[in-house]
Amino acid sequence: MRVVSGIQPTGNLHLGNYLGAIRNWVRMQDEMEEGSECLFFLADLHAISMPHDPAELRRATLEMAAALVACGIDPSRSVLFNQAQVPAHPELQWLLNGTARMGWLNRMTQFKDKSGKNREGASVALFTYPVLQAADVLLYQATHVPVGEDQKQHLELARDIAQKFNNDFATEDAPVFTLPEPYIPPAAARIMSLRDGSKKMSKSDPSDMSRIELVDDPDTVMKKIKKAKTDPEPLPGEEAGLADRPEALNLVTIYAALTDGSVESVLRDFGGQGFGAFKPALGEVLVETLRPISSRFAELLDDRESLDAILARGAAKAREMGGPTLDATYKALGLVRG
Ligand code: ATP
Ligand code: MG
Repeated sequence: MRVVSGIQPTGNLHLGNYLGAIRNWVRMQDEMEEGSECLFFLADLHAISMPHDPAELRRATLEMAAALVACGIDPSRSVLFNQAQVPAHPELQWLLNGTARMGWLNRMTQFKDKSGKNREGASVALFTYPVLQAADVLLYQATHVPVGEDQKQHLELARDIAQKFNNDFATEDAPVFTLPEPYIPPAAARIMSLRDGSKKMSKSDPSDMSRIELVDDPDTVMKKIKKAKTDPEPLPGEEAGLADRPEALNLVTIYAALTDGSVESVLRDFGGQGFGAFKPALGEVLVETLRPISSRFAELLDDRESLDAILARGAAKAREMGGPTLDATYKALGLVRG
């Protein structure tokens, strides 16, 4: 099994990013059997498909890399790199552009969503983004690609491209590309804003108090939890009692996710208690979870040399792993390279 997965670089990482995305990768890595591999990359090349600030992209890429390592991605077990250091990604994308059909890309709903009304003003990169995604996974002969609901269509496209390429340019006993299967990751927690239980926790929320950030110190975490919006009722004994109490449900969900329990099991322990008791308990668990992560995170961001070295090693490994497929693609297409 070979799993390949990318994440867009984001700065100002928060608890939602950790519990909803990063922790899943760490689990995937930790559950890999002997002989299986994970390749994790920062999708910095994808980031230029939307208007962006170069300085911000650079900062976010390094921050995301540091956060992944701080949260438990082990660069000696997983291959961790950013796309921009592995030119084979955009190279293969170009080669696959000959196989991808306009009609296939025209059907991609993400392009329609992201370009909105301004289709004519959207970047060409936004349109061909799914072909780069296909290249990202086909380059490594990925057998499995973790996909959320919104990415299913793009994985289908990657399979269509692989199949057509194999059909048109390879023989049945020596296909150039492996058709990747979807890998449905265990359901990740969806964390809501601490100020409004109907909005998700997000880095773009103007209020700092709405989110716990990976860099928050223990005092800040305790303060944010103490001030988190709640209601005057004690916690119920069962999940049904949280149906119309989104803020309370969110805090219980966070506790459950951090302690690997369920909402039910947290309510078995805390049912009947008020937030005066529950919030400090939640704050403690959060502080203990974040302590090692934030200190490693800060350390890595301060030590650019180590961080650069981690990314350089990952990229070297990725280039080596992708090389044979890239060569085979050029060859199959009849491109002369000396
Ligand atoms: P923005 O507000 O700009 O959309 P964001 O805070 O939502 O930023 P993203 O960069 O969009 O962060 O998301 C990075 C990853 O974190 C994605 O995999 C996304 O699904 C996940 N994620 C973001 N917010 C949450 C959340 N509140 N709960 C669970 N997962 C989240
Ligand atoms: Mg988002």
